[in-house]
Amino acid sequence: VPELPEVETVRRTLAPIVGIQIRSVWTSGKGLHMARKPPRAALRALVGSRIEALRRHGKYLLIDTSTPRSILFHLGMSGRLRVQEAREPRVPHTHVVIGLGARELRYVDPRRFGQCDVFERAAPHDHDGLALLGRDPLVDGVDGRELHAAARARHVTLKALVLDQRVLAGMGNIYASEALWRARLRPAMRSSRLSAIAATRLAAAIREVLDRALVHNGTSLRDFVDADGAEGSNADYLWVYGRAGEACPRCKNAIRRAVHQGRATFYCPTCQPP
Ligand SMILES: [Zn+2]
Repeated sequence: VPELPEVETVRRTLAPIVGIQIRSVWTSGKGLHMARKPPRAALRALVGSRIEALRRHGKYLLIDTSTPRSILFHLGMSGRLRVQEAREPRVPHTHVVIGLGARELRYVDPRRFGQCDVFERAAPHDHDGLALLGRDPLVDGVDGRELHAAARARHVTLKALVLDQRVLAGMGNIYASEALWRARLRPAMRSSRLSAIAATRLAAAIREVLDRALVHNGTSLRDFVDADGAEGSNADYLWVYGRAGEACPRCKNAIRRAVHQGRATFYCPTCQPP
């Protein structure tokens, strides 16, 4: 499942399409996330405009055009965005194709949990996905005091706090485990017990794990590849995620795996005391 660093990696590799004119739009007509179909008419209305910028908020990739409207992609579980030569055959499960002259931006999604939409740039909150998002840890930074306030206001585990998209947009399962290990905080700890000093430590750890993942172009656990088709290498550099039974990189005791709300969590029982 692509998380924030993977989507940021895709954004960066798509940079060559900035400045290019949209010449055509094709959609498969199949529904994606929540059976919602990519809005064919709204996408076609962008033909003739230029791609002016590529932005990201959390896991949403935003393509600004020279009109007041932007295109939004969310990769869901298995979505991929690739820039390919128009003459290359389309692979199965291609759902959206944006023609850019000799090349095409193609959205491929076998499991169809992703999203493609068009929204008014001046009113991102009108889009139900964007409306819920908190600050983006890379674009807006992570503020220890805000994190502390959010923690105190909630009665959830630290793991759930970090995963709450209203608190931090784009944090997912892998980097939540990594950041809590880095900050020496037990994932199952109640957020209301988080001290101001620990919140500052957690904020710094979140930023560090995301920066670290970006250096390695994201994590290739299942089928993540960037827009050029290259796999990320970050899985080799993870401290605890997916490493149950292996030695903690800090204290050498065995890393444990627990399941919270149906999702795996990895932590060191020694470095992250209850
Ligand atoms: Zn340890």
